[in-house]
Amino acid sequence: MPAADLILLADTVVTGASDGPPVRAVAVAGGLIAAVGDRSDIRDWRGPHTEVIDLGAATITPGLVDGHFHPVMGIGMTRGADLTAVRSIADLTAALRRAGESVGRGGWVEAWGLDPNAFGDVPVTNAPIVEALGPDVLCAVQMFDAHSAIGSPRALELAGVDGPREFASGASVACDADGRPTGHLLEMEATALLDEVMPADEPGERRARFRRLLGEMAASGLTGANAMDFEDDSADLFAAGEDEGELPVRWRCAPFVNPGVDADGLAAVVELQRAGGRRWRVDGAKFMIDGVIDVGTAWLEAPDTLGESTSSLWPSPEDYRAAVRFLAGAGVPIVTHAIGDAGIRYVLDTYQLVGRVSPVPHRMEHLETMPSPLVARFAALDVTASMQPNHCTHFTHADGGDNWSRRLGPERAGRAFRVRDVRDRGGRIALGSDWPIAPYDPRGVIASARLRRPANEPEVEPIGPAQALTAAMALAGYTTAAAASAGLSEVTGRVVPGFQADISVFGLNPLTAGPDEFAESPVPLTVVDGTVAHRA
Ligand SMILES: [Zn+2]
Repeated sequence: MPAADLILLADTVVTGASDGPPVRAVAVAGGLIAAVGDRSDIRDWRGPHTEVIDLGAATITPGLVDGHFHPVMGIGMTRGADLTAVRSIADLTAALRRAGESVGRGGWVEAWGLDPNAFGDVPVTNAPIVEALGPDVLCAVQMFDAHSAIGSPRALELAGVDGPREFASGASVACDADGRPTGHLLEMEATALLDEVMPADEPGERRARFRRLLGEMAASGLTGANAMDFEDDSADLFAAGEDEGELPVRWRCAPFVNPGVDADGLAAVVELQRAGGRRWRVDGAKFMIDGVIDVGTAWLEAPDTLGESTSSLWPSPEDYRAAVRFLAGAGVPIVTHAIGDAGIRYVLDTYQLVGRVSPVPHRMEHLETMPSPLVARFAALDVTASMQPNHCTHFTHADGGDNWSRRLGPERAGRAFRVRDVRDRGGRIALGSDWPIAPYDPRGVIASARLRRPANEPEVEPIGPAQALTAAMALAGYTTAAAASAGLSEVTGRVVPGFQADISVFGLNPLTAGPDEFAESPVPLTVVDGTVAHRA
């Protein structure tokens, strides 16, 4: 072999290969793993320009890939006050008052990350905004799940929102008995009305935020992620990142296909499949068959306890099916957000009709509640189940007292986030975060997957502990299964010769450290495409 560009030494290397002697040294050349072996082998690999990094007692793993991420939507959505710690209306008004002390761009008070559980039994409205800031302040609050937002009365006025409206999707403007908007805007077409009147970010500021995000991702141990958005400036942001050097994280992007899409829109998605750079590419199309449980926009077989979540986000689900059929026919792998049992069933039926069209299997995102007959179909149809353990552990409670559980009722909440059942029935699980909906740090997500509660909160009762993954299963969800779900099983996801040199290094061994402990593990190094992306 030619001299290595980089040699990594560590006491433990989790290769992801099924057999072979223990590995303690990894040689990298030309962006690929050139050889693996023992410390004594480095004599044969070393050349005059080889960099050798001795990581001592650390553990090398295949590079971790997040299955579901919103990088570009996220940098737009995480502006202003962070409300992720708000637990009550009193917390909310206090946080908004603080935010109102330094009014942001264009006179707006912006905030994000609000869990509707903060409202308890009270409907979600703009009343706390008015209480905190008065009626005349421009204020927009993004709910944690990005499926709804709250606008202040003045903001709604500016956006021309003065009563109920019809949308092409199942979006809506929540109104009181007299038809006056309550401030709560549900789903994207409605929340976009607010976005349109808010001042746009400066492009330079967006580039800087994007760069910071990718650097922080690499520092958490991620080497790649699947982008579930491809916004107007996504290509520019990726390209700008590559003009300045190399992206610290690889990306596969699935542009969004909206309900109401026409033939030109679908053709544009096919055309976009050619887009890409050195470390990013478009590969897929993202649909949503339904919304979310929390605001009553999911698609359930039977209504939730408030009589909601009864239909698809597509006014005619057949239109979804036709769009999937068209794109799949053009060889585009399909990604569909499906949360309610009826939505999951419909998407499985659709995938069954369409069949596999490319090396990349179709995939489904979230899968929040489903009966057992659906669980078994993921393996049978070779559909990737892309799941986000933090959704369960951060936004629901074992006692069923949270908004999500109350809306579903005990039977359906009892069959929630069945990640282990899908896995045990032979299904492929890609793990991820859905950032900015939930925190992306993979160490914390792996802990959530293993514990069914947030890391380092031992007082929290686990939710459905039978659905916990083992350490090996959780790591596979970020490595070997992540590669398989991208059709790249023979290219990446393991530390074996010939594979892409995407490598994560942790101070603690993810397979033997306790999950709470591992959530706090140092990340001394990440390597992407054979070059150092992060070094502590
Ligand atoms: Zn998402």
